[in-house]
Amino acid sequence: MNQEERPVCPHCQQKMKKWYCPDVSTWGTEFQFVCFNDECPYFVRGWDHMMKTQNVTASYRHRYNPETKETGPLPVWSKDNFKKQIED
Ligand SMILES: [Zn+2]
Repeated sequence: MNQEERPVCPHCQQKMKKWYCPDVSTWGTEFQFVCFNDECPYFVRGWDHMMKTQNVTASYRHRYNPETKETGPLPVWSKDNFKKQIED
């Protein structure tokens, strides 16, 4: 898969990154696309939202599963969470 085929995050219009799932059995796919832009409004907003609703310091990034075509949040506990699994 080349650069051009990467989906764009609907929240910040940045190309999403190919992310290798640490737990393949949970997700049912080897990799997913995740928006790792630290300025992404979805991610920036998430900290506040999680603190207010769950009282935890966490946020989430926009995630797209190419296997199931499903999108959803990827919960993160720090800015660098999961960045080791990015293939660039
Ligand atoms: Zn984004």
